Order: sequence, then C-alpha cells, then structure tokens
Amino acid sequence: MTKDGTLRHPSYLGLREDKRPEAVVIESEHHAADLPAPAKSNVAISNRDRVVYPESNITKGQLADYYAAVSPIMLQWVGSRPISLVRCPQGRAKKCFFQKHDAGAFGDAVHHVGIVERDGHEEPYLYVDDADGLMTCVQMGTIEFHGWGARIEDVEKADRLIFDLDPDEGLAFEAVRHAAFQFRDILKSIGLETFPMLTGGKGVHVIAPLTPKAEWPQVKDFAHRLAEAVAQSDPEHFTAALSKARRKGRIFVDYLRNQRGATAVMPYSARSRAGAPVAAPITWREMKTIDKPSHFRVGDAGELSKRAASKALAGWGRADQALPDLQQP
Ligand code: ATP
Ligand code: MN
Repeated sequence: MTKDGTLRHPSYLGLREDKRPEAVVIESEHHAADLPAPAKSNVAISNRDRVVYPESNITKGQLADYYAAVSPIMLQWVGSRPISLVRCPQGRAKKCFFQKHDAGAFGDAVHHVGIVERDGHEEPYLYVDDADGLMTCVQMGTIEFHGWGARIEDVEKADRLIFDLDPDEGLAFEAVRHAAFQFRDILKSIGLETFPMLTGGKGVHVIAPLTPKAEWPQVKDFAHRLAEAVAQSDPEHFTAALSKARRKGRIFVDYLRNQRGATAVMPYSARSRAGAPVAAPITWREMKTIDKPSHFRVGDAGELSKRAASKALAGWGRADQALPDLQQP
C-alpha cells in the first residue's frame, strides 16, 4: 500500500473466513521492544468530584486518571475482545450492574461485535480498541472491565485458559499462594507456561495463554478434567464442585471461566471493592512473597506502568502454545 493508501498491484487471494469484518483494520508495524505508546483520549469526564469509593474517598476523576494512565498497558489485554462492564454510576456503595450489551448509549468509541447466542440470534457485544473507548466506559460509570477469553477476530477460539482459584472464607492467602504454585507446576508438566494475576479480590488467576486454535467445548472439557483431577488427587485442599458445602475450608477451582461467553476480570481493571484494589499481573517470583490479592490499588498507576515495562514482566501473559492432548485417565 502506498503512503496515500493506494493498493499497488493487488490481487485477490480469497476471503478470510476466519476473520470478522470488525477485526479487519489497516495494520501498522509494531516492534517487540517498543514500549506501549502513550494512549491519549479526548473523552471528557463529567462529575469528577463524585465519590466512587466512599471508604477511601476516591473520586470518579481519580478513577478516570487511573484508567487514562494505565490505558496503554491495559489495552493490550482488554482491547479487541468482547467485554462486560461493572457499572456503578452512583459509586461502588450504591446500585451496580453487570452490562454485556449496549443499549445504544455509548457512542462511537465503544464498538460492537455480533455474537450468535444459543438460540441462534445474534447479539451485539461490546468491545473497545483504544483509549477513547476505554475512557467512554469510565465516563459512563464503569469500575470493572471483564473480558472473554477470545478476541473479536474469532470468538469461538480461546486465547487463554484461566484457573480461577477462589478460597473459602477464612482461608489464609498462604493457601491460595500454595495452590497457585501447584497449578503452575501441573500445567508446566503438561507443557503449558502460566502467568499469575492478583484479582484485586480474594484470589488469584493462573493464566495459560493459548494460540487461538481450540474451540470452547474442547477448552472447557480440558479445564474441567484438569480441575477434577487436581481436586481428586488433593481433596483436602481443593474442590471443583459448585456446591457451597464442598468448598468448606478449601479452594474452589473455578474452571467455568473457560466456557463460551464466560468472562474474567481484565489485567489492570479496578475492582468495585473497598480500598479501590486493581487486578494486577505479577511474576511467579513475586507470588512467593506478595501479601494479598488486593496489593495494588487505583493510586498505583505509575508503579504499575513502570512494572509493566520492566524486564521481569515484559513477557507476562505471552506464550505461543496450544492446548495439550490430555489422555483420558
Ligand atoms: P476473586 O479473586 O475475589 O474471586 P474474581 O475476579 O475472580 O475475584 P468475581 O469478581 O467474584 O471473581 O467474579 C467476576 C466474574 O463473575 C466476572 O468475570 C463474571 O464472569 C462473573 N460475574 C460477576 N458478576 C456478574 C453478574 N452480575 N452477572 C453475570 N456474571 C457476573
Ligand atoms: Mn475468583
């Protein structure tokens, strides 16, 4: 393509059946060593003084400043995948709601990707691909960003596996830490490299990036069987059962994050919990000593950006790997 956008000697090679029209954009060159370009947004934030976190007096303006600062490192994860929003227009202590679809109020910067529902009709899901999209959501009262484990290019193919480790109430973080390492080792032994993320809530997500190949039924089956196998081999510490009674004193391995339509909190998303914690990627080395899943907060945008550019976290969440073939036990 020439500088003024003319195709030179184009030839028709075929239709890209694997891509959705929404995902076809003019590509620009990226270099692996590049720091994320500062993403600038022109979205005006209203009611900057409205208190979103009453316990710590954090305002909508401060939350918006957080998101503006982390947008370059966050868009790599939240960008170009179907998202759901936790919106709390009156702050986290008032009514919040989980939003999957657009009622038409978000404007041009928040895009739609059509996804076929179980009953066969198509629903428009939300996605963003730049700082304006992200900041529009914040302007609309969004605190949390949750995302599918698939990109808009092909929502049927997973680009990550997540083992969501949820400790029963009263269980110390030490137990979650230990469980995370167990999952790391098990997944490593079957050829999957993983990365830990503090959720900002009670637990940890152990994430195995996938090159999008396997479709949801296969991915869910894999996650289910692995979670069951771990729970069966160590029933004192784990359960993969949904029933509350079975979770008593254990860690619930929520493998259902690995099914079509399920979402998980996105890296660097703020949480609508007291103290304004955020979901944060960490290294396995840090996992040994980190104090709690709500270690990082909305006030830490600068530190989080610096960390993301550090050597230790540069490759976080990236691995070119496929779902292994687990033999039926
Ligand atoms: P923790 O470490 O505390 O478990 P977490 O991020 O793993 O944090 P939650 O915040 O308890 O877990 O759950 C978030 C997920 O639950 C979302 O990604 C979404 O899939 C689902 N979810 C939460 N609220 C709703 C809702 N109102 N409707 C549908 N799904 C929801
Ligand atoms: Mn969880």
